[in-house]
Parts: sequence; structure tokens; C-alpha cells
Amino acid sequence: MKTRRDFIKISAVGTGATVLGLSAFGAKKFKWFESKIEGPVSDEDLTPYATYCEVCFWKCAGWAYVDKQGRVRKIVGNQNDPHCNGRLCPRGTGGIGMYYDEDRLKTPLIRVKKADGSQEFREASWEEALDLVASKMKEVKDTYGPEAFGLFNHGNPGAHLEHLMRAYGSETNAEPAFANCRGPRSSAYYATFGAYIGSPECTDIRDTECLVLIGSHLGENMHNSQVQEMSQAIDNGATIITVDPRFSTAAAHSTHWLPIKPATDIALLMAWIHVLIYENLYNKAFVDQYTFGLDHLKKHVKNMTPEWAYGITDIKPDVIRKTARAMAGAAPAVVIHPGRHVVWYGDDTQRERAMAILTALLGAWGKRGSLYLPEGVSVPKYPQPHYPEPEWTWKDVNEGKYPLATMGITTELLKASVPRFGYKHQVKAWFVGGTNLPLSMPDKKLFKEAAESVEFIAVMDTMPMEITGYADVILPEATYLERYDFIRSAPNRVPNICARC
Ligand code: SF4
Repeated sequence: MKTRRDFIKISAVGTGATVLGLSAFGAKKFKWFESKIEGPVSDEDLTPYATYCEVCFWKCAGWAYVDKQGRVRKIVGNQNDPHCNGRLCPRGTGGIGMYYDEDRLKTPLIRVKKADGSQEFREASWEEALDLVASKMKEVKDTYGPEAFGLFNHGNPGAHLEHLMRAYGSETNAEPAFANCRGPRSSAYYATFGAYIGSPECTDIRDTECLVLIGSHLGENMHNSQVQEMSQAIDNGATIITVDPRFSTAAAHSTHWLPIKPATDIALLMAWIHVLIYENLYNKAFVDQYTFGLDHLKKHVKNMTPEWAYGITDIKPDVIRKTARAMAGAAPAVVIHPGRHVVWYGDDTQRERAMAILTALLGAWGKRGSLYLPEGVSVPKYPQPHYPEPEWTWKDVNEGKYPLATMGITTELLKASVPRFGYKHQVKAWFVGGTNLPLSMPDKKLFKEAAESVEFIAVMDTMPMEITGYADVILPEATYLERYDFIRSAPNRVPNICARC
């Protein structure tokens, strides 16, 4: 059966123009060659350009070294950057491959129907592709209102699209990275401490005396400065407690490895809380000054003893007691790592809240070796006209189901794109930038039904991938090595910014 939107696989053949067409938002800086770079080059022949890596969200600052022909030859870390301390991870040094990848999208593409009813992409000029996107935006606005044009985005390029859509009149946006990754953490710490945990997280692992990792795989994931700091903490003799069913890299370097039965983490956390309260090991001064509800908590965990938790978690009572006492002995220099990809079992916000409460009982907030209070720099916003007020936004699409959510929920926007779900607010078209929805959403059938239901999909990215196969228009995006934009001003122990030049 022919569908409105057949999936079209893009191969390098047929989409390759000889000159790289850069994003409407990017700026051309270096020269792009389709051929491989060969031959040695000495450092004297290279010029360094300041940049920061965007292969992942850590955004480590570095230098891109460019030869006399304008070709990027190597990328190294910036010594002055607290996010990397001069060292990039292997993905970061390999960022050059993303730039020279011969499969990159090089020219806009538009979906067309052939005489036999099949569909394919044809190359288009930027003018034609942007005109088509603009005409569809106008059509949706005139027919359904601008709010019906949804945005799925991620990362810096996605932020540009967010501005575009807000100027157009839509705040119907969602990032899969919220509900599928770190959203429960943000909501839980905000609900408990009234503060977000930040990105990178404000963990003083370098100076901690006790690091607790619950499903955090430092050393397997590459959260650059945290991996470096964990090595320092181990060298300094810190106690490392790793809770993980697997004997992970972190577990192999830990003082205590707690191979917990999957999906029982909250029971362990409650038993730790029980020990701290009932053995009078919690930080009384901190709890008295900054918290309320200890009596309720004490009553709540009364029967949640290590013996009770043993039956649920498979962690022996003496190990639960010993590790709780180790944390109390090191407090307040304890980091209960809040994790990053924390969406596991559906109880994630409550698990993260338990971790935040444990942190509070240890007084491990705003102290050396605990979660520190980050310092940021306020970069003034570029002056812009006032955005129109939408009649409804992603908050209305959530329909009160997720009161703690601080961003749109992607699944809800997908459901709002499918008429049979009967959502009050319907999404009729998508802009997608920096996120590969078919792979990032667990419910593949829902994604396909939603993609088939909407009237128009525009995708902006650097490479062909699953989501580009569903697009009506594809706009090639610039990689971070071709951009001047966005000043990085992520918080850290000391205020810092990072610019590209
Ligand atoms: S951790 Fe690695 S991939 Fe991520 S920004 Fe830093 S160097 Fe790049």
C-alpha cells in the first residue's frame, strides 16, 4: 500500500554535489574536500582556531588545527577549559571524521512522487527548499494556527529552530532527550532542592571522599571531566560505591560493588535512608536548617530496614549498613551521582528524588567534595522583537499528565499528531532538527503512525539517517566545525565561557 510518506533511504550516490552546501544558520570557515587528506604536515604549517566539540553535550573546548589549504588536520583540547582540562575523548578527537564524512548531506532535498506512484528525493536549491518550508508554514498557520506546527529538536542547531518556531507563533516543541534521558533527574532535583542539577552536573568528584554511582557508568560513557576526576578521586583514596547489576568499568575500580537486582534501586535507597536516620548518622545541622518533613520521612522508612531491602535487592544487610556508614563518615564530602540517562523503569523521578533526599541527609550540597553550587556567566541575549503568544503550547498537549515536566514530552506530541488519539490540540506538521526520532523513540509503531499522519515534515541535519527518510524537505546542516555561533556558558566551579573564532 502506498503511504503519504514512504521511507526513502538516501545513499551518497545521487545526493552528492561537489561543493558542500552549508546550513542557512552556519558560516563557512574551512575548506571541504571530498577526497581523503593524505600526507604528513608539521605543526608550524597549522593554524589553530578556537572551537568547542559538539560530538556530545559536554561541549569540551578545543583547537581545530587547519593547514595552508584550509583543511582541518587535528583537533585537540583546550588546557584552560574546566570541561576537558586540555583532553578530548576519542570521539572528540575523531570529530574531524564527522566533518569530512563523504555521506554528509550536501544539498537540500525534496520528496517527489514519480509517475509509478513511488517516491524519491531530488536535489533542490536552498531557495526552492526554503520557499517550500515557508509556504507549508503559512498553510498550516492559515488552516490550523501556528501551534499545529510542532518541533522536535536537540542541541545547539535545534535551539535556532526553537527561536524560529517561537517567532512564528508555536511553542509546540519537545526533545526526546528530556523524557527519554535526563528529564526525571531535572524534575526530581528541582522538586527536592528547588534547583536544577545542571549540565555538566555540578559534582565535585575531584575533591570527594565518597562517590556513589547508581547506574552511572563513568569510564564507559565519556563524560570527559568526570572520568578524569574519578581517576583523581581514586588516586586520592576516596571510597567508591557502585550499584550496578553488571561488573562495570566503574565497579572494577570501586571499594564496594553492589550487584543489585535490576529495578530495585529505590528499596536500597530507602534502606540507606533508614540507616542514616535510625542510627542518627544524618547531618543534623544541615537538615535542621534547610529541610522540613524529617518526621514524615522517619515514619515512612521505619520498616524499610536493610533486612527488608535484602529480600528485594539481593544486597546483604551488612553491606547496606557498611556503605551507609561509609557515606556518613565522609559527609558532607559525598557525591551521590545524579546520573545522566536515568530513564529505566518508570519509577525514575521517585528514584531520583530518593537520591536527592539521601544527598540532603548527608548535607552533601554546596560543600567541597559534594554537589557544588555552580557559577555561571550571564551572556546578554541578542535583542529581538517580542514573540507572539501562542494559544496553546506543549504544556497543554501534556494535558496535566506530567505536572513535574519542565519540557514537552515527545510521546505526547507524537500522539497529538495522530487523530485517532483524539487529542484536543492536534499537531499537523513537524520540524525536526538534531534528533533521530525513529531510533530515539521506543514506540516505533507510534512514531510511524504519527509520521504517516502529519501533512508535512522538514528535517535539518548533517547526515542522512532514519528521520531524513521520512522528510518532505531535507536541509543540510553545518557541523560544529563550520559554525561561529553559540557562546558556551555552561556553569562550572568557576565562571567560564567558550567562544568560536
Ligand atoms: S566528552 Fe568527548 S565527545 Fe563529548 S564534547 Fe568532550 S570531547 Fe567531545
